[in-house]
Amino acid sequence: MAERKGLSPDEKAVYEWQLGVSGFGEAGQEKLKAATVLVTRIGGVGGAAAYALAAAGVGRLVIAHEGIVRPADLNRQLLMTADGVGKSRVASAARRLRELNPRLDIVAVAENVSESNAERLVRGADLVVDAAPLFKERFLLNREAVRHRKPMVDAAMYDFEVQLTTILPGTGPCLACIIAAEPPGWNRRFPVFGAVAASAGSLAAVEAIKVLSGVGEPLVGRLLVGDLRQMTFRTVRVAKNPQCAVCR
Ligand SMILES: [Zn+2]
Repeated sequence: MAERKGLSPDEKAVYEWQLGVSGFGEAGQEKLKAATVLVTRIGGVGGAAAYALAAAGVGRLVIAHEGIVRPADLNRQLLMTADGVGKSRVASAARRLRELNPRLDIVAVAENVSESNAERLVRGADLVVDAAPLFKERFLLNREAVRHRKPMVDAAMYDFEVQLTTILPGTGPCLACIIAAEPPGWNRRFPVFGAVAASAGSLAAVEAIKVLSGVGEPLVGRLLVGDLRQMTFRTVRVAKNPQCAVCR
């Protein structure tokens, strides 16, 4: 993270309402300002996370997602707009984020996470928000986060269920400790309401803000499972696997 340089009067005015959050204050705001967060996939989950992090004033957001906006994205990908259909997804997202908070450095990467870019993307971030729907991408990000000792917030959803955990390499379990393998029959296309995906994304942003600013108790060694159909939430303890191939 960069050296603290203080907040301008403009920043104090914009962030006034969160500066009063207990334990956060200007010191917390300066930590967000100095941070680089990688949000990978900025669809229903990651888009909501990126929007909340931009509003909160994370200084540099690197958003990664390939492809163009399709009509079927619009029920949940809240950074996309109808006039963006057929155009770059990540360009639409970057534009919306800059409109919301022009103080930030928004870096748009028109790629999904793969073996060829994961190491570089993760190494350049202070924290990773993993909102990828594919297990292959989630495991790849986890591997690089562990290797480079970067905190990672992993957010996922399916139907009415949301799942969230925070990986602090060296402290708690990694994603591979918690999820051994991709569930059989996992499909790229899954049932989703935008509001459920955005709930997962907003919760991920809260975790990222907490880890970066040192406020609160992040979900390290815990998996939050929310059933929004019944509107019940529970937290499950998850332990480090001594035989984990990634973090042992
Ligand atoms: Zn592990």
